[in-house]
Amino acid sequence: MAGLGLAAAAQPADDPIARVLRQDQTAPNAPPSATHLPVAPAKTPPPKGAGPSPGGNAGTNPPVVLSARIGEHDDRTRFVIELSDPVNLRTFTLANPDRVVVDMPEVSWRLSAPPRPSGLGSVKSYRYGVFRKGYSRMVIDLSRPVTVSDPLVLPPSNGFGYRVVIDLFPTQRTKFNTEAGWPADLKARETDAERLRAMIAEAPRPSGRKVIVIDPGHGGLDSGTNGVNDLLEKDLVLAEGLKLAKALRARDYVVHLTRDSDAFVPLPERVAIARKLKADLMISLHADSNPDPDVNGLSIYTLNDGRSDREAAALAKRENQSDIIAGVDLSNANSPVAPILIDLAQRDTMNRSSRFAETALSHLHGVTDILARSPHRAASLAVLVAPDVPSVLIELGYLSNRSDAAQMNTDAWREKVARTIANAVDRHFGVTSAGTPP
Ligand SMILES: [Zn+2]
Repeated sequence: MAGLGLAAAAQPADDPIARVLRQDQTAPNAPPSATHLPVAPAKTPPPKGAGPSPGGNAGTNPPVVLSARIGEHDDRTRFVIELSDPVNLRTFTLANPDRVVVDMPEVSWRLSAPPRPSGLGSVKSYRYGVFRKGYSRMVIDLSRPVTVSDPLVLPPSNGFGYRVVIDLFPTQRTKFNTEAGWPADLKARETDAERLRAMIAEAPRPSGRKVIVIDPGHGGLDSGTNGVNDLLEKDLVLAEGLKLAKALRARDYVVHLTRDSDAFVPLPERVAIARKLKADLMISLHADSNPDPDVNGLSIYTLNDGRSDREAAALAKRENQSDIIAGVDLSNANSPVAPILIDLAQRDTMNRSSRFAETALSHLHGVTDILARSPHRAASLAVLVAPDVPSVLIELGYLSNRSDAAQMNTDAWREKVARTIANAVDRHFGVTSAGTPP
């Protein structure tokens, strides 16, 4: 949730964007400068399977988001985003929780001081980032139902770039609920992507070699926890995941990462990847936070079997909301926190998961601080539900703790923890190789 860097931005003295923001106060129902607005691109659906079409300079540098403003008025809340190049974007709404999703081709966000909503308008909070490779997304959390205007694109003027204007008008709950939902072509694209992944998975697995799926948590517009030293969970776990992949490949494991860049991957997709690859082990990497800044140390989670202490339940809630954060449609999916029915086969998988968790903890003792109280925990984590893939989720440490955050930010710590986890994987699979001592 954190990591958006939403510093309170002083309202600008006067600039073209400020003027745009003010225009609807003089003419409340007229879109700004409507007569010479060239484009309202969102209504043109992109070709099937393509999502929002790339900007005019695909293949070169992505358009840059230079600034953003939120104008909160009596009749509407207005978003203005300034870009270096025009982009095709489109919006749609999702209910429960109520969100506006703004999709666009991949852009580079350079917002030094993103504007913070006051809480009085329709916008509760918002976040932005890469959704998938080639696509960026902004997700706006709503405090009330709204209708969204077609995005308007203003041409550059007065030294400012292209500006995209999106208005949110308060509306009735029933109207909002009727309009909310994923566009049909996006749903089709997801299905195509799933089919493609299924085909890839048909590839015969190399005989005799264990398959490990490394799952760096969060990514893209889901930053995860924001560290006291501004280290973002999504960046930390990607760096650690890449190191772990390298260490395991050097030991001849077949390694697959659920993401190897700063992109968002929905939780069910992470599970699907591990299952399709018939992974022997899935290691999900995260970092935790706690209101108590003194709480520190690494812990490892496995799937619970119904029993869950309060802390574990709170953690599951935090980690499971990734898809909501990123504006993924959950309406047709099972709730990720629905009670999990565990059969005998899954019981065996859970036993293997627990065995690896214990092995990893025993290896990691002395290498990094371990959570003082019961470092092996169980929780209803959506990313651990594969019934046939032993899965663990490692919370590498607490980004809310100064010393944890500082050491997790060092290459030396990351190297030694990756090596130690790789040693634990060796031990788990009965590999008698010496491994590199931590
Ligand atoms: Zn996390």
